Amino acid sequence: MSASRARFHAAQARAYRKLDNPPEMELDAWLDSNDQIRQKLVVQLDQTDNPLDIEYLEFSLQELGKRRERIIFLFENQREYELLDIFADVLNRDLEFVAEAAERMGHSTDQTLVIGTFPTGSINAKVLPVDDTADSRERYIVVDSGLPTFANLLAKAVTNAVPCFRRPDNSEPDYLNDIALVEREIMKDPQAVVTRYAELIQSYVANGDPNAAPRYLVSPDSVVISGRWLSSIEQFIVAHEYAHVVRGVMPKIVEDDSVRQAFARAIEAELSRFDELESDQLAMNIVIEAYRQRFTDFEYVNKFVIFPIFVMFYALSDLQWAVDSILSGTHRENGPPKDSHPPPIDRLEALFKWLVEDYVKTDSAKASIQHSYDLAHKIMGYYGGMAQSMVAVAIERGIPVHPRWQ
Ligand SMILES: [Zn+2]
Repeated sequence: MSASRARFHAAQARAYRKLDNPPEMELDAWLDSNDQIRQKLVVQLDQTDNPLDIEYLEFSLQELGKRRERIIFLFENQREYELLDIFADVLNRDLEFVAEAAERMGHSTDQTLVIGTFPTGSINAKVLPVDDTADSRERYIVVDSGLPTFANLLAKAVTNAVPCFRRPDNSEPDYLNDIALVEREIMKDPQAVVTRYAELIQSYVANGDPNAAPRYLVSPDSVVISGRWLSSIEQFIVAHEYAHVVRGVMPKIVEDDSVRQAFARAIEAELSRFDELESDQLAMNIVIEAYRQRFTDFEYVNKFVIFPIFVMFYALSDLQWAVDSILSGTHRENGPPKDSHPPPIDRLEALFKWLVEDYVKTDSAKASIQHSYDLAHKIMGYYGGMAQSMVAVAIERGIPVHPRWQ
């Protein structure tokens, strides 16, 4: 373990010990890159009335029998905070993936980056200096410890809305992104489909833990699709921070009197906004290029990389809105997060505009992206509506947000 990673780990441990109720750690399915393992377990769970009969690898559901009501899905169980290091391993894999693509594109950095999770209570990851020395060549990338799991369960919840299929010539699962078909899928049982998402938002906000939401199974094909969406979302989050690093530190403005300070703050806010949007563009560019190396079919990249990132912005918006609304005890306007980032929906709009106006050149690629944008808007409209109703009930009942958000 590198020295900076060891320091990060020690700080993580201190932070968790300080919390009254340490957030429960789970080894979620997204930790395992082997989709086959996940599929096998889903099939096993589908075939038994008693999930406690199943033992898989070194993992024994039996040992968790006392918490049976919380057990449905492999790896979605409770663990100690020390294993947050496993999150770090997954995020480090994402970072390697991102850095490799970025370097190919000519965006490299001489900084040493250490990535890990921390209960930051922010929907945005952050880049922090390891120490204050001016020549420090190390940076921490810090992601809220609930965010990777939130992204996983978000991807899973969205598969409820899309019909999955397999092409006869191709064993890989795919999904239909026809908007009318998706709407029909939601309408089959709107309560069941959209409630999963609302429960997820509520669990993260009120319990500080996305895993507090009730568990449920999705089909083996959906597991594969949600796994791919999850990777893209994770990689985008990491790539956004990587983009901040390669784009360098913003100029600092000297503040020497109050008028200048006000002006400086305004400039800085505008610079920050600009920096965030540019970092989103570079991040999207890096992630798309990484996948284009592997998949020549742009429609694949559109369905499995661009679409889930659009979905992510809606979800981050709902999450921030839920926190703000419950904290203030009222339905709030959907404002910006507490840090320098513009509101997630503004970032989505700017990113979408850039993609279709500047990034892709062909009409068919523009149409594909437009379609993903419309689909994300449609699905997340239904999902967000339910989440808002649930937040309204939480406000009425005086349910507070978890301390991590305050
Ligand atoms: Zn940022």
